[in-house]
Amino acid sequence: MSKKHYKFLDLKDVNAPWLDEINDAVSRVVHSGRYVGGPEVQNFEKLMAETVGGGVAATGVSNGLDALRLIFRAYMEMGVMKPGDEVIVPANTYIASILAVTDNALKPVFVEPDIRTLNLDTAQIESHVSPRTRAILTVHLYGRTCYDSTMQDVADKFGLKIVEDNAQAIGATYSDSRQTGALGDAAAFSFYPTKNIGALGDAGAVTSRDSQLISAVKALANYGSDYRYHNIYQGLNCRLDPIQAAILSCKLPYLDAECKRRSHLASIYEEEINNPLVSKPLYTAHEDMVWHQYVVMTPHREELRNYLLENGVETEVHYPTPPHRQPCMHEYADLNLPVSDRIAREAVSLPISACTSADDAVEIAKIINNFSK
Ligand SMILES: *Cc1c(COP(=O)(O)O)cnc(C)c1O
Repeated sequence: MSKKHYKFLDLKDVNAPWLDEINDAVSRVVHSGRYVGGPEVQNFEKLMAETVGGGVAATGVSNGLDALRLIFRAYMEMGVMKPGDEVIVPANTYIASILAVTDNALKPVFVEPDIRTLNLDTAQIESHVSPRTRAILTVHLYGRTCYDSTMQDVADKFGLKIVEDNAQAIGATYSDSRQTGALGDAAAFSFYPTKNIGALGDAGAVTSRDSQLISAVKALANYGSDYRYHNIYQGLNCRLDPIQAAILSCKLPYLDAECKRRSHLASIYEEEINNPLVSKPLYTAHEDMVWHQYVVMTPHREELRNYLLENGVETEVHYPTPPHRQPCMHEYADLNLPVSDRIAREAVSLPISACTSADDAVEIAKIINNFSK
């Protein structure tokens, strides 16, 4: 009997349910003759603003890193920040969060995560604020909302902007039911193909209630041009392709279903995994977690991953090296961030994509429960 294989992620499988809709959308753009900007992008932006709610406007951009870079660049152009100013950042994140800060000659100030949520420990923000601090970059990592009244109070007290890196948590909410992307002053989204809502290439968006910020991001993403052949900024070209906009407009209406599908798998893992060698992520039934990743921790990571693979279960590690330990960040290499280092040593992401069925999750949990040292 051949053993079943549990894929971590297969993008072809993920997009299979939308193939007809995607083909129609792409063909619509091909036949429209409009290949940059235009109604497909505007339609997506409207849908995106409605999806996030909370009175935000949305603008499509080239990818998630550019979305974040453009937000900080816009704040610089608006005079809110200047080179050398500090931004509070989570030490446990994907490096793109940090690159958006350093790309704008701003200084990242790393703050450790709470080991329970793996997200920025908001109780530690205030002690890291200096006279040069201008913003808190909050990352809703693995799909978990990272925002609370402690963060908002510090931001209010010191006049800091809250910038959300919402690459991983589209559709997540805060306890007052506001969505991520509408919690802070501005938010960046990524639609990289592996995200909960993925394009068929690179794509991103910025949301904000601040119309000045949105106008600045729009102009900066289009050579710094506010109207044709008139440039108020020395800008960039970071536009969203209409093909990707049309594809995303097909997929966005299914956001709720995707969040529910992931939550259901997480609830199965939560219920079924029971092995003292493996600690499960903090489980919250309400919707502050959209389970972009289901991350367990174990001090026996190599053994667990090898064992799972032998039993047909693919896993990943998000992320094996924290940003401050990357060669490109050598000036931060001496920071003492033991919680982030521990997560990088012990984290294992289990399959939770559209390739994984509820039955698969039950089987994967059984396999994990049979893991021993
Ligand atoms: C994916 C990701 C990004 C970058 O988005 P791209 O679209 O790949 O540029 C930024 N931050 C986080 C937390 C991400 O997961």
